[in-house]
Amino acid sequence: MSEVDWRDSAACADEDPELFFPVIERGEHAVTEIAAAKEVCARCPVLMRCRAWARRSLPYGIAGGLTADERRELPVPAEVLKPSGRLGPPVLGDRREVAAAGRLAIQRGARPAEVAAQFAVTRRTATRWAAQVRAQSDKERGAENHERASCVRSGR
Ligand code: SF4
Repeated sequence: MSEVDWRDSAACADEDPELFFPVIERGEHAVTEIAAAKEVCARCPVLMRCRAWARRSLPYGIAGGLTADERRELPVPAEVLKPSGRLGPPVLGDRREVAAAGRLAIQRGARPAEVAAQFAVTRRTATRWAAQVRAQSDKERGAENHERASCVRSGR
């Protein structure tokens, strides 16, 4: 899917664009308008792609489920392991790629709560990723033990 194609799947395609560009983005009056726009984003299948694009290219308006201020506050994403050892979501990842990067971050020692915040997913999702990582490592350990036991039995 190219960077232009993802917009074809946008949940906001049939919405009034003004909903996403309130005159004021801060303060009490903006809250209702922002919430309405975020509701549309919440059911958008390309939310992560839109967010990555908006972080780079859209200094105002609601996009990717966040206001411009919220997007600026997000940690800087990284496609690769940073020197600090932390992983971030892929810049243009679909859900599967984001999940793979999230599982890798957990494998490298990140806590589910930290991953949930950094990858903009719920704690439940991050906890599920952690369970998948554990299950995979148990499986690999089981296979290793089995191989070791076979070697001992055969005297190798
Ligand atoms: S995340 Fe929100 S602004 Fe972005 S494409 Fe989806 S609905 Fe539109």
